[in-house]
Amino acid sequence: DKFNIAIDGPGAAGKSTVARIVAKLLGFVYVDTGAMYRAVTWKALQAGISPAEKQRLTEMASALRIELHPGEQAQQVLLDGEDVTDYIRSIAVTQNVSAIAAIPEIRRLLVDKQQDMARSKGVVMDGRDIGTHVLPDAELKIFMTASVRERAERRYLEMKAKHEDVTLEQVEQEIAERDRKDEQREASPLVQAPDAVLLDTSGLTVTQVAERILELAQA
Ligand code: C5P
Repeated sequence: DKFNIAIDGPGAAGKSTVARIVAKLLGFVYVDTGAMYRAVTWKALQAGISPAEKQRLTEMASALRIELHPGEQAQQVLLDGEDVTDYIRSIAVTQNVSAIAAIPEIRRLLVDKQQDMARSKGVVMDGRDIGTHVLPDAELKIFMTASVRERAERRYLEMKAKHEDVTLEQVEQEIAERDRKDEQREASPLVQAPDAVLLDTSGLTVTQVAERILELAQA
């Protein structure tokens, strides 16, 4: 029988890598909700709309057609038909996304879409508010964390592999800043759901974390 899995936690905790593997092994659909907030942010930057212009942002976002397609490496993201998968991982998007994700109207729009996608069950969805807000009835909820230092090291290695010009300290600061914004915002802040299983991935491999979630899913 199909069920839903909610995976929440701070940035760079390994949620998307693990969620993709778990979805593949279970034959479920993987939904990366962060990609949706990133796509809206990318479009806002393109259109020259600042996070402070809530009305314009909301109008822009409600007219936007966001499509998510499961892919081999990453989930493919199309905005009005245009493939923006790579653009939404840029440093500019990463620095602005938490401000835009704090706008209640933007969240309402995207949460509606996310709930639609999970309606037929068999979804592994990752984000910040999935277990608390988007899918409060998910059959399995995971809250995945790791120390700021370890998350920074992982993200730093990823960025270096893409030849991005950053230092470990910059990455660590950016992650700590995004944690702070995601935890302190008023609209569905990042918090562990009372019925979520806490999984600290510090020192664990991706395979070990995926195996632990599969055990929980099969229990
Ligand atoms: O998961 P990812 O790092 O791609 O998410 C980018 C940002 O989008 C987060 O830092 C957060 O501000 C926002 N987000 C959110 N709610 C979600 C998923 C992401 O607010 N469900």
